[in-house]
Amino acid sequence: MYTMRAATYHDRRDIRVEDVERGTVGAGEVRVDVDACGICGSDLHEYTAGPIFVPADEPHPVSGETAPIRMGHEFSGLVSEVGDGVTTLREGDAVAINPILCCGECRQCRSGNYHICDSIGFLGLSGGNGGFAESVVVDAEQAVPLGDDVPVEYGALVEPLSVALHAVRRSGLQAGDAVAVFGSGPIGLAVIQCARAAGAGTIFVSEPRDARRERAADCGADELIDPSATDAVEYVRSHTDGGVDVAFEVAGVEASFNDAVESTVPGGRTTVVSIWEEEVSTHLNNLVLGERTLTGTLAYLGGPRSDEEYGMVIEMLGDGRLDPEPFVTGRIGLESLVEEGFDRLVDPESDHVKILVRPND
Ligand SMILES: [Zn+2]
Ligand SMILES: [Zn+2]
Repeated sequence: MYTMRAATYHDRRDIRVEDVERGTVGAGEVRVDVDACGICGSDLHEYTAGPIFVPADEPHPVSGETAPIRMGHEFSGLVSEVGDGVTTLREGDAVAINPILCCGECRQCRSGNYHICDSIGFLGLSGGNGGFAESVVVDAEQAVPLGDDVPVEYGALVEPLSVALHAVRRSGLQAGDAVAVFGSGPIGLAVIQCARAAGAGTIFVSEPRDARRERAADCGADELIDPSATDAVEYVRSHTDGGVDVAFEVAGVEASFNDAVESTVPGGRTTVVSIWEEEVSTHLNNLVLGERTLTGTLAYLGGPRSDEEYGMVIEMLGDGRLDPEPFVTGRIGLESLVEEGFDRLVDPESDHVKILVRPND
């Protein structure tokens, strides 16, 4: 049995880098040597408050696994072994991994909307091979070619950028629309870039952390609001014709949810990107009086086609409409994943946005 180093999630505050089975490449599969894997906000939630997505008691219906599971779902690498019957990939190809696990049978899967499958899960959160590892074995269909114009390391950002692009498409944003983004962590920053690429007019950002507001400006935001010092709703209303057309909630806290809805003009639309740990209290008259619309958004379509978010993001990274540099604040090795990665990112004083783990450096 060949082993390698990989990070496994055992329980809250218990993530270990240890020796695991490397696995063999079966028919229809490829091995990918991981170049980079991003640490995501949902990984941090699993670390501090989990298990949430990680199956603890019942096995995940698609992966069949329970904790300990291998972690890391935002990753890219080079194909190093190709299984029988795979015709779309060759050794040496640079790929981004689509981590979505779905049943293939429910109504949403049958209609092509597998990202809202009844049994939705993700490689690296719900079982399967995760990207905080020297290599992974995945179905060839889940390895999406990056082509020649996207550096392989930036392939690790295709997943979070696809979350953001899907949110922008769900929002109905039209060129010229005024936009407000509440929260500028990694996904908020990605939403700003995607909204900018979609032709947004003025983009307002409400974010209490100074360093994150500055990065929002780097990503294309025009108006920066510190909600701990300024009433964000009043500011947005007084700097627009009665409110923004489109708001995005990317902070996951009640106050920013209510601010997002109230910052939209009557007839405006709010898109909720955050995953919530708690219920929120809101006044529904904010929707009813003013005919405002509230939309949820989850994940993305992870295929290479030009009508799927992965395909679009790879094209937009290739031609420069999306710029990965403002997101990446650190690069670390696999062995220091917890101390230099998770522990730094959960520190509220930290200025980090996205730390990339490079398991083969
Ligand atoms: Zn993620
Ligand atoms: Zn399904």
